[in-house]
Amino acid sequence: RKAAAQAASGLEGRTSDGLRIEVCANLGKRSEAAPAVANGAEGCGLLRTEFLFLDRASAPDEDEQTADYTAIAQALDGRPLIIRLLDIGGDKPAPYLPMAAEENPALGVRGIRVGLAQREMLVPQLRAVLRAGAGAAAGAVKVMAPMIARVEELRAVRAALDAEAAKLGVAAVPLGVMVETPAAAVMADALAAECDFLSIGTNDLTQYALAMDRGNPAVAGSIDGLDPAVLRLIGLCCEGAQSHGKWVGVCGGLASDPLAVPILIGLGVTELSAAPAMVPEIKALVRALSAQDCRGLASAVLQASSAAQVRVLATQMIEGVA
Ligand code: PEP
Ligand code: MG
Repeated sequence: RKAAAQAASGLEGRTSDGLRIEVCANLGKRSEAAPAVANGAEGCGLLRTEFLFLDRASAPDEDEQTADYTAIAQALDGRPLIIRLLDIGGDKPAPYLPMAAEENPALGVRGIRVGLAQREMLVPQLRAVLRAGAGAAAGAVKVMAPMIARVEELRAVRAALDAEAAKLGVAAVPLGVMVETPAAAVMADALAAECDFLSIGTNDLTQYALAMDRGNPAVAGSIDGLDPAVLRLIGLCCEGAQSHGKWVGVCGGLASDPLAVPILIGLGVTELSAAPAMVPEIKALVRALSAQDCRGLASAVLQASSAAQVRVLATQMIEGVA
């Protein structure tokens, strides 16, 4: 597996029967971009911008953010860079953000809800993304909104993005929706009608689908993204997106899980954004799989009644190509 992973690192992600699957890296800071590319990443499917905002006394301004996003886009050298709007609030507080304590932070003001409530956070970030996008290859820089639950939230982000693009006199960057709530997965067709792409955050989608808090040690160990309930939501999301010709990626932990990869491909996912260290292995696996076989596996796991059964089915397929 290791030799195959090394050999695959300079090649593109494509299944053995020719389906293009982009294999990207999740990045959490500027210094990770160049090593990820050297490791074979075909872009960044999730830039967690929290790195710029946490552990400091005040928010980074528009210029500082522009410099950071531009440097990362340059390190990626024309490859896609998907910048996630700030995902703090709830259990990820920033000292300068006026936020009320909440009894259920996972169900409270977090993700895009923070930005829509505090435009002084959202607007400079959108402007910085737009400026970085204007300085990069056309369409390479994209933006996505975390924790979307309703079409109205997408519309509000779109309106703010378009307004700032007009003020700056630049083209708007493609806008994606993170599918992290069961509501977004179920409503993916309506969201896909108005966004440019979808990216599934399986960490949050799993916690919300199973009603198990990622941060609560009493239940966190039972959280399993291969639960058929989660896989059915991912399947719905892919169907909804396909009905509007939009692509779907996965940027949550499942994209780094070799057992999940054939299932995701079979369900219709065409971009996998993995932890940087996992990129070579995931790409080698993609190249060994047949999309047609993955589709067979996906229909089987959608009929499974437990994660254990899903694992048995997926393991058979992985062992077949190892
Ligand atoms: C996710 O929820 O799967 C995700 C990618 O976002 P984060 O892990 O940063 O919440
Ligand atoms: Mg998330």
